[in-house]
Amino acid sequence: MAPLIIVKVAVPGPFLFPLDYLFEDEKDGSAPVVGGRVEVPFRNKKITGLVMEIVDSPDYELNKIKAISKVVDDTPLFSKTELVFLNWSAQYYHQPIGEVVMSALPKRLRSGENAEIKGMQYWRLTDDGKIKTLDDISKRAKRQRELFAHMKSHDWQSESQLNGALENWRSAAKSLSEQGVLDSSYGPCLMQHEFAPSPNHQLNSEQKTAVDQVVASQRAGNQFAAFLLEGVTGSGKTEVYLGIIEAAIKEGKQVLVLVPEIGLTPQMINRFEAYLQTRVAVLHSGLNDSERHCAWHLVRTGQIKVLLGTRSALFTAFQDLGLCIIDEEHDLSYKQQDGFRYSARDLIVRRAHLEKIPVVLGSATPSLESLHNAQAGRYQHLVLNRRAANAKPPSIKLLDIRGERIQEGVSTPLKTQMKQHLQQGNQVLLFLNRRGFSPVLMCHECGWQAACPSCDANMTFHRRYDPNNPNPDSEEGYLACHHCGEQMAKPKVCPSCQSDEFVKVGQGTERLEQTINEWFTDKTILRIDRDTTRLKGSMTELTAKAERGEADILIGTQMLAKGHHFPNVTLVGLLDIDQGLFSADYRAAERMAQLVMQVAGRAGRAEKPGEVLIQTHHPDHSLLTTLVAKGYSEFANKALNERTEANLPPFRYQVLARAEAVKPEDAMNFLASLKSGLENCLLQVDHANHPEVQFWGPVSAPMLRRQGRYRYQLMVQSDNRKSLHQLLIEMLPHIYNSPLSRKVRWSLDVDPQEMY
Ligand code: ADP
Ligand code: ZN
Ligand code: ZN
Repeated sequence: MAPLIIVKVAVPGPFLFPLDYLFEDEKDGSAPVVGGRVEVPFRNKKITGLVMEIVDSPDYELNKIKAISKVVDDTPLFSKTELVFLNWSAQYYHQPIGEVVMSALPKRLRSGENAEIKGMQYWRLTDDGKIKTLDDISKRAKRQRELFAHMKSHDWQSESQLNGALENWRSAAKSLSEQGVLDSSYGPCLMQHEFAPSPNHQLNSEQKTAVDQVVASQRAGNQFAAFLLEGVTGSGKTEVYLGIIEAAIKEGKQVLVLVPEIGLTPQMINRFEAYLQTRVAVLHSGLNDSERHCAWHLVRTGQIKVLLGTRSALFTAFQDLGLCIIDEEHDLSYKQQDGFRYSARDLIVRRAHLEKIPVVLGSATPSLESLHNAQAGRYQHLVLNRRAANAKPPSIKLLDIRGERIQEGVSTPLKTQMKQHLQQGNQVLLFLNRRGFSPVLMCHECGWQAACPSCDANMTFHRRYDPNNPNPDSEEGYLACHHCGEQMAKPKVCPSCQSDEFVKVGQGTERLEQTINEWFTDKTILRIDRDTTRLKGSMTELTAKAERGEADILIGTQMLAKGHHFPNVTLVGLLDIDQGLFSADYRAAERMAQLVMQVAGRAGRAEKPGEVLIQTHHPDHSLLTTLVAKGYSEFANKALNERTEANLPPFRYQVLARAEAVKPEDAMNFLASLKSGLENCLLQVDHANHPEVQFWGPVSAPMLRRQGRYRYQLMVQSDNRKSLHQLLIEMLPHIYNSPLSRKVRWSLDVDPQEMY
């Protein structure tokens, strides 16, 4: 009898391990390969899964195992090492393997489409279209006119280029095609285009040392090494990355670069392509399915050497990966907060370790975890203390606003400084981390406050303020919950006492914009927050405007704090940061310090010196005084000492179990039974050898009710990562099989970053 061929297939669904299927050899059909996809029967459907392993004996009774329906790939999509990485990720985060594997595949490949892709759609003007002018396009068809004007100055445009440049262009493209003005055709995934000339900076000595160290480790070959590149804002970290990437490409290697969600701007892509004089692939949430498929295919087949992507690009298959980089490694967007809750920062290091290649973690404000790893000698610490070129570090001052006159959140001294900087023709940036007009809408008669019907939270009042038509008396506006997204019109009268007088309590960016507009009537103001950048491409447009100096005053939330390079900004004002000083979350101080330093880092990045003013009622608070007098490193050292003393991460390991349900007792009971199950497991093992595992909870989440569900959490922590994880491995099958788990939405968050 021929030996059995048992194929272990990762399929989507709540299965922690791959499922067994049988392959019945058909003489001339293709055979399944490890790392390739197969189609398998599942319940009454056929689904696509990935072959993780091929063995000769099943884990189940043979007569219960079904046969594979079809082999999809006869060559592997993932290398052996990549499969080990996916398996490791699933196990570390206690996540079903199929879910992890599916997150590593573009949507089209998940549904079984051919891995090869012919190309994507491109558009251009027809010969007829080329001789037409804007006057030939209907005055009323605004989108068509925009598209036409854009195509006038461009040759073939791919869907992604049009997405980046225009909104809602598709129906306009259809109409123009019908009029014979445009035509479209399938083109290759990879279109060569002209690159801007390479800027060719001479690296300064700190940058050069950093590049040399990483390149040396890369050249040594076949060895893992992790580098923490700590460079003050404006020190030219990107230049260091580019130097290292160039060297890797010269060796014929591919490079994976992760950037935070809003860091991946067209400006950044252009900078990479100009320096490297080669196309780079990009992967981020704004792409459509064919764009993703294209990028993925180009990287996997080695046609493109550099992949720039956000968090999930981490799982892309490479042909010959030689270097990993993660920019702004402290950024919270690297942590996936739902479903498969992984940390891309931790996983990229693991991936580099398995691939035996160098990884660089860069930041001006490194996470305490990474600093701890550097201090423990696991990461090599590369430091850039100076700003690149001739830029000076900004002077940072605390502005004691106790007893000062404050109008709409802005103190008189800050206003005075603004005037001075503006008079000299410079740009001013105001940071206020709260969008909307006011966080509270209150009845003046009875004190009623607009609260979200489904969350334990106030609704934020939004004005729909239009700077081109400022009308401060306009009562138009709406209420929005920033937690569940619920929106409603502003009530005409108070639901409780029918009064029509409301007070708007507190400041958001909209209100600040209105005030600033009234004060500086002759200045242009640009507000950058989630509300002004909702439309595709608008973030790019606004930041490009800001960079070109087309606005005098920039107002923004933390979106504005990240990575941007505005050469003309000389004054940065931080408005309302005090509440962050007194949070219950032990990570709040770290986040606050990072945010303050990142915002401050926007000042004085070119020739002109920068000034940063932090308004506070707590000028003696040690977080602020340390940051201002001694800088981030000193703050971080202190914070790490506090973490050691309090026995908190990174000196201790945590897993947070969350549960939410419409009935609060369901969520509570689920966590209580999980806890007693874990305690039972602990009793069964040898006490003397078992390091302490501690529980905290179950307790209600900081916001008990959200989107109509009651939320609870149970923290499990230990000094020993291994035994903590072992405990969960033993427990997990019980959770999946527990009837209680069906009444709740539950999740495990390994190394949680937020206690929301
Ligand atoms: P960071 O990411 O560290 O905040 P950037 O990489 O954005 O800083 O660099 C800040 C600015 O300094 C950029 O405009 C960059 O082009 C410039 N720059 C970087 N390195 C050099 C150098 N060696 N010589 C001249 N200019 C440089
Ligand atoms: Zn009232
Ligand atoms: Zn809500």
